[in-house]
Parts: sequence; C-alpha cells; structure tokens
Amino acid sequence: MPTQGNPIATSAYIHIPFCRRRCFYCDFPISVLGDRVRGEESAMIREYLGYLHQEICRSPCQASPLTTIFFGGGTPSLLSPAQVAAILDLLQKCMGIDPQAEISLEVDPGTFSRSQLRGYAQAGVNRLSLGVQAFQDPLLQVCGRSHQRSDIDKAAADIHEAGFENWSLDLISGLPGQTLDHWQESLNQAIALEPRHISAYDLVVEPVTVFGKRYQPDVPPLPSHDLASAMYQMAHDTLTSAGFDHYEISNYGQPGYHCRHNQVYWRNQPYYGFGMGATSYLGQRRLSRPRTRQAYYAWVDHLPQNLEECPVDSQSDRWLETLMLGLRLAEGLSLDALRQEFPAPWINQLIKAAQPHITAGHLYFEGDRLALRVTEGFLVSNSIILSLWNSQA
Ligand code: SF4
Repeated sequence: MPTQGNPIATSAYIHIPFCRRRCFYCDFPISVLGDRVRGEESAMIREYLGYLHQEICRSPCQASPLTTIFFGGGTPSLLSPAQVAAILDLLQKCMGIDPQAEISLEVDPGTFSRSQLRGYAQAGVNRLSLGVQAFQDPLLQVCGRSHQRSDIDKAAADIHEAGFENWSLDLISGLPGQTLDHWQESLNQAIALEPRHISAYDLVVEPVTVFGKRYQPDVPPLPSHDLASAMYQMAHDTLTSAGFDHYEISNYGQPGYHCRHNQVYWRNQPYYGFGMGATSYLGQRRLSRPRTRQAYYAWVDHLPQNLEECPVDSQSDRWLETLMLGLRLAEGLSLDALRQEFPAPWINQLIKAAQPHITAGHLYFEGDRLALRVTEGFLVSNSIILSLWNSQA
C-alpha cells in the first residue's frame, strides 16, 4: 500500500522467529519448534507467515525499490524456498526490489540441504549468513546450540556447491571455558571455509537467559576482561592478515563484501522492519513490534495505518543513537552530516569532548570524520561513546 508523505526507506528487515531450540545465551524473540518440524509442515510457521503478509500489505510504504533485504531470526532456514519466495514476491509488489539488491538470509548448520539453498537462490536470495559460533563440540554444547562441528563443514560445502559466492559466518568469543587456543582455532577454521565476511561477536550475558542465571561476567568460567580483550585483538590480527577489512566493531569483510544492509543501521538511515519483535525506523520514528506471537498477531489486527501514531525520537535520542551506531564503523562519523541534523553547539561540544580521547590514542579526526582507532578505540568504545554523549548534558 504505497502512501505519500512517509520517508523513503530502501531497506527491509524480516524477522522469522522460529528455532529448533533456544540457545543458552539468546534473548531474541523466538518460538521453539523442536528438531523436526519446518516449512509448510509447521502450522505455527504457516500462521505466522499469514500475519507477516498482512503486516507487509497493510503497512504504509513508499513505492521506492528496496536495495537491501535481510531475513533474520530466529532461523530463517526453517522456511521452505517457496515461503521465502512468497515474501519476496509480496515485497516486490508493495515496494519493488532493485535488481542489484542485496538479499540476505540467516541459515543455521543442520537446518538446510543443498537443494533448499538452490531454491533460496532461485527466489532471489544472494547472500547467506551462517550461524556457526564455535568450532568445538564441547563449546557448542555449553551454548545449547542444536548443531555439531560436523554440521558446519557440510553447511559450508553446501553453500559453495549451491553457488553462493557472498556469504558470512558468525562466531562468538568469550564463551564459558573458551580459551585463546579455542578462539584461534575457530578463527582459522572459519577462514579455511572461505566466507567473504565474518562477524566475531563478544558474548553478552543477558540476565533473562540460561547464561544469565548460570554465569557472571568477568568470573570463571567466563573469561576475564583481559582475556576477552586478547580474543578481540586476536580476531583483528588473524582476520585482517587474511585479507578481511575490520570495517565495524564486530564485523570483517573482504573488499566489496561489507554487509550493505547492516551499514544502513550503523549509519542511522531509515529502514522497514516486519515481523514479531522487529523494529522499523522511518521518519525519525522507531517502532518496535510485540515480542510474542499472540501479541504480535493482535498488533497486526489493529495495525496503525499511519506512522503519525508513533512517537518521534527526541533530538537527544537521535544524537545518542547516531554517536553509538556511527562510531561502531571504522569510517566513523561525518561532522558535515552531523551539522545537517544537529545544532552547531552540540558539534562544537563533541569536538571538545573528543580531545582527551584523541590524546589517549582512542579517537582521531581525519578530514571531516571522527572515528575510533582500530582496535585501541574499539576496545573501549562503550565508555568513550557514553562520555561524548554525557558531555552534552
Ligand atoms: S539459533 Fe540464533 S535466534 Fe535461535 S535461539 Fe540460537 S541464537 Fe537465538
């Protein structure tokens, strides 16, 4: 339903909230299906997709073609190719899809076959993101992952055989009992599988998760702060030596393979979000959908027809978001772009507040850009961003 007057977004996130099991560190909005049901066989998936289609059809949108689409989860590879194709057809009808669009889909080892991947490619998917996390069976078990080490090799072989040239692999550092040797092995094994992109996330222990009940940050079996920092540095050294650009705090890509969709988030640009728990950011309005299925279904039944009903982010909220997101990127923030949106005294104060961090070797200016140093600044990014933001108060 294209409408006039809403902002132009050219990216869309689609949340597929189903997993075989819940991993012990995960607080994402998902429903657990068990190990056997998937695709058209699952009434739960069919019902959800019905509401997702309704949401997409009834959402205000501009008729400008999408240049990036990201199927995240959850485990989107629990959908059949026909189900993915139906969503893409709908997006094509509602907003159009640019012929050069980056269309990513998250897949988990053990949840797909080679023919299924070919089906996704036929539907238009041209980038995969494989959730590996670790290459050691004991660590995968500690995390409650539903795949094993042997599933990873098969998954990578299937991805290559199915003709996906552009794919990413996710790893997590700082897992319980993980050593530097484990981490080095995971990095090396990841590189050996020849993805174009690697995300290396530092474990965040969320209170509501199994990990949150079992472990305390910085206390064994979780790594100390120093060990976590050493793992971060090891990822940087290993992956950049292998030809990956460290272009975002946790993300590495070969030249030409940086994730276009995620860069939209980090640059605080508008995007559509569809599905349970998804957030959209349109016209400075951030709209989060309910995080449980029934609440999401009720929300779709009473879908706001106009984004005017959602509160607008305050300028102060947007300032914090812009700093937090933009400084995650190695390219940093453009002061010229900030001047277009925020009051001049805020920019002047930012430049002043940056000075001690520049002296400490964590931040630098280059041209009109302010950026964290890779890796010295990335390692202390949270405290720097907070101090820059607080300086406005
Ligand atoms: S597969 Fe991903 S989304 Fe699903 S439970 Fe595990 S971490 Fe969470």
